Amino acid sequence: MKLFIPGPVTVRQDVLNEMAKQMIGHRTKDASKLQKDITEKMQKIFGTKNQVLLSTSSGSGLMEGAIRSCTLKRAACFAIGDFGEKWYKMAINNNTPADLFKSELGDITTPEQVDEVLKTGKYDLITVTGNETTTGIANPIKEIGEIVKKYDDVIFCVDYVSSAGGVKIDADDFGVDIAITSSQKSLGLPPGLAFCTFSPKAEDRAKKVENRGSYFDLLNLKSFIDKKDNQYPTTPALSLMYAANFQLDYILNEQTLEKRIQNHKDMANLVRTWAKKHFDLFATEEKYASNTVTCIKNTKNIDVANLIKELKKQDILLGNGYGDLKDKTFRIAHMADFNIDDMQDLLNRIDNILGF
Ligand SMILES: *Cc1c(COP(=O)(O)O)cnc(C)c1O
Repeated sequence: MKLFIPGPVTVRQDVLNEMAKQMIGHRTKDASKLQKDITEKMQKIFGTKNQVLLSTSSGSGLMEGAIRSCTLKRAACFAIGDFGEKWYKMAINNNTPADLFKSELGDITTPEQVDEVLKTGKYDLITVTGNETTTGIANPIKEIGEIVKKYDDVIFCVDYVSSAGGVKIDADDFGVDIAITSSQKSLGLPPGLAFCTFSPKAEDRAKKVENRGSYFDLLNLKSFIDKKDNQYPTTPALSLMYAANFQLDYILNEQTLEKRIQNHKDMANLVRTWAKKHFDLFATEEKYASNTVTCIKNTKNIDVANLIKELKKQDILLGNGYGDLKDKTFRIAHMADFNIDDMQDLLNRIDNILGF
């Protein structure tokens, strides 16, 4: 099966092979080195000098940990789709005071909107979706960051789960305190590992928050790795870490991050051009369309379920629209280690099925 869904993605065989290696003790120097190596490589993916924390969980774990560990007063959660709303629900389920600010589906979170909300002085943490997988939209994080910088006491958290490793991120430059991602999307790894940046400002904040939970207490993770040479409080997913270390070497040294980002742009352009020719983009403004996943408006009212069924017969998995957008949209992910040829082949197959 070739997976054109927005995660999990098809993983290269040599990456999978890394996971078959024998275990090491998680309290050994080898474990410290492995975790330190991954951390330093992920700093390049995120564009940060801050500490990167690893988590044996999917990305949602760190999203929950971030909002719970670092909200003292109240969190403002900006949503442009389901994943943005999920962050708000995590806050509520943890008794963390929060308000939800939704944009129309297809639109972005605007810097002006963020300014209006922060001006009230009610909030000391915000969550923004870097790349909303359900609508195929990338928010203007740099521009939003310019606004957030005016508010000294606000912690800026960004969900880059479906784009880190496929797009350029300059977390420090953008003023992002906690940037989060998962292994199974643009990084091209199996699911089960998550990564986040943790700024000194976020760390200071967490010290003031009383009930930070335990497994996803970001301050506890940070304090532990500081004291224990990059080791973690609980047993980490070593197999996934072998794979991550190997894949990050490939991305940074063999492929280079620049070429990987360009490859994502090229794939996105190909799919968007095709989508506009036959359908329409779900994104209201094309300049905010995501470079890792395209959400296509089903303007021809095709039978999406049937298209997915026909592709499955050819060992290809494609994504329907998410939640309320099912059948009204469908999604083509162009992330991780696919290239232009993979995307062209997929589009040709869709053309054949739909008689284009
Ligand atoms: C997939 C996804 C998540 C959830 O990540 P998990 O690793 O499944 O927990 C969150 N946000 C976005 C934008 C996603 O695409």
